[in-house]
This record gives sequence, C-alpha cells and structure tokens, in this order.
Amino acid sequence: TESTRAGLAAAATAAADLAERIRELQAAYYERDESLVSDAEYDGLMQQLEALERDFPEVAGQDSPTRRVGGGVSDLFTPVLHAERMYSLDNVFSLDEFREWAHKIERGIGLTPQYLCELKIDGLAMNLRYENGVLVSAATRGDGVTGEDVTMNIHYVSGIPSRLMGVGHPPLVEVRGEVFFPVREFAALNAHRAELGEKMFANPRNAASGSLRQKSEGKSADKLALMRDGLSRLRMLVHGIGAWPTPPVATQSEIYGLLGTWGLPISGNSKVVGSVEDVAEFIEHFGAERHSVEHEIDGIVIKVDTVAVQAELGSTSRAPRWAIAYKYPPEQVNTTLIDIHVGI
Ligand code: NAD
Repeated sequence: TESTRAGLAAAATAAADLAERIRELQAAYYERDESLVSDAEYDGLMQQLEALERDFPEVAGQDSPTRRVGGGVSDLFTPVLHAERMYSLDNVFSLDEFREWAHKIERGIGLTPQYLCELKIDGLAMNLRYENGVLVSAATRGDGVTGEDVTMNIHYVSGIPSRLMGVGHPPLVEVRGEVFFPVREFAALNAHRAELGEKMFANPRNAASGSLRQKSEGKSADKLALMRDGLSRLRMLVHGIGAWPTPPVATQSEIYGLLGTWGLPISGNSKVVGSVEDVAEFIEHFGAERHSVEHEIDGIVIKVDTVAVQAELGSTSRAPRWAIAYKYPPEQVNTTLIDIHVGI
C-alpha cells in the first residue's frame, strides 16, 4: 500500500543516514585514533540501525556497518592479508539478553557448554604471525581481511616474544590479542605529549592505537623519543588464535595454557564455568572490580570453550556465533560545567 511504501522509503533514508554517521565515526576511531562521540553513543547508533534492519530487512545492504568488521587500512601502512579472517563481536547489554543468547546456543547444540569468561580489554586488536616459532609480522585488524603492518613497532612492546619459547611450534600460527595502554601509565604519556606540544589522547584506548600506529620516518629526535615512550608502555594480552589447522588441545582455555608456555602474555583473569548463572556471577564480580584491573575494560567476553563446538556454530560476516560481548552500562562521567562569559 501507499503507506507501507512511504514507511519503507523513510526507513531506507534513516538507515542510510545512520550508516553514513557510523562510517564517519569509524574512520575517526580506527584511522585517526579519535572518538567523536562516547562509546555508548556509538553503540546506540549501531543498535538503532540493527533495529531498523530487523523491522525492514529490505534496507540492509551487504555493506551495512551491521554486517562488516569496522575499520580499514590507512594509506600510511602496508596492507597485510590475514591468513584467517578476524572478526568483531556481537553485543548484549543486559543479563537478560545474555541469558537469551546462551539459551539459543544451548538449544542449537543440545547441551550446556563450558563457558570461557574473559575481560573485554579496551585496546586494539592485533594479529601476530609466527612461522616456526618466529614472529614474522604484526598487523591491526583492519576490515578483518586485511590489516595494517605494524611489525616494526611491535618489537618495542614488552612482553611480545620475537621468538617463542619451548617446543612444538607449528609451521604457522596466528596469535590474536589486544594491545592496550595500562591505565596507570596514561597520565605520564599525555604529560610527555603536552611537553612537546602534541595533542593529548582522550583515553587509554586511543593512546594504545595512536602509539602503535605511528611511523618513525621524518620524526625529530624529540618526537622519536616520544614515540618510543608510548610504545614501551604498551602491553598485550592474548585472546584467541587465527590460522592453526590442528591445535593439539580441544578447548580455547587449553590453547591459552599452551600459548603461555611459549612465553605469550595470557590473562590471569579468565575463568571456565559450567552454567549461565556462573557467567552472571563473573560479570557482576568484574563490574564491581573493573577499576582494579591494569587495563580499561568495557565488558566481559563469553566464549564457548570447546573448539569443535565453535567450529559447529561458525560465524556471520561480522562476528562468531560462539562468543558474545556483554557490555557494562556506561559509567557516569564527572564533568565540571564551566560557565564561560564572552565579553562583548
Ligand atoms: P568490539 O570492540 O565491541 O568487540 C570486538 C573486539 O573486542 C575484538 O576485535 C577484540 O579486539 C576485542 N576484545 C577485547 N577483549 C577481548 C577478549 N577477551 N576476547 C575477544 N575479543 C576481545 O567491536 P569493534 O567492532 O572492534 O568496535 C566497536 C566498539 O568500538 C564499539 O562498541 C565502541 O565501543 C568502539 N567504537 C567507538 C567509536 C566512537 O566514536 N566512540 C567508534 C567506533 C568504535
């Protein structure tokens, strides 16, 4: 009818506007290490677009931000093709939504899986490629297929082995994790930046991304020292693997154990639990403890632990079906309102 056609046209326009705004915010965030709006506001726009596409599936194009891994490859960096795709994560924003997700998984596979609960580290995703135990490249996630080559810089990040310890390294393994800026180091980096007249980073996440995604070419001695300062404060924690055809263990938690014996940095805060209620307890625990962790966290990631079940569940074009990010509600920011009177 006339009115449904008009409704559809209005939905298409609204979806196109939302997609355009989201792409602008992604370009600022992933390419220029800037947040033009808060993360909660960004998530809200994504949720609006998802809701529109649910109500009007006709308006969802293949290239909609809801179907792609946000991020790209800046011209500043050499593109690197990941051996295996990198994904984003789907989100839930309440325990009820998490329970709904878990029930769907449990209905799908016919049992209650072991859930691996991890902190969701607010940094940037990194893909380390090891060949026969030697680090040959480090790349950002980019669009998930192609990332940005940051190999030169990753060598300055402490805790990332250039050569794996131990034995039994496969010919090729991609180790995925998050590079982050420790919260207690953030003020010192900004102070150093201010000294040299550089723009300060708004938060540790942008500091992580901005520190890693730099080129040394053409920098003065002062700026080079600043760049090294940022890089040397960065840390990484492993949260997954990419290409590795036959890992010798059956679960993701055991994979972490193995990677730890090779000298890779694994988190001490992950936990395997056997029920949805235990996941809820983990979420609540770290909701209260989030400021006692060395890095910022924006939620909890819950994964099905068994690798064979992960393979059975598979992925969409944007995210695995076997994992979900529970996002904590945004924290109240204490802002001081300053009344500025402009004289005329
Ligand atoms: P995401 O950050 O919500 O989730 C996916 C990422 O989580 C993975 O790629 C991985 O790098 C990371 N991660 C951290 N800890 C992990 C763990 N333990 N296990 C697995 N993965 C872990 O999704 P996204 O697509 O990368 O980015 C979207 C988010 O980025 C938004 O929700 C928002 O918070 C932020 N963002 C903000 C703006 C802005 O303008 N403020 C713009 C773009 C994106």
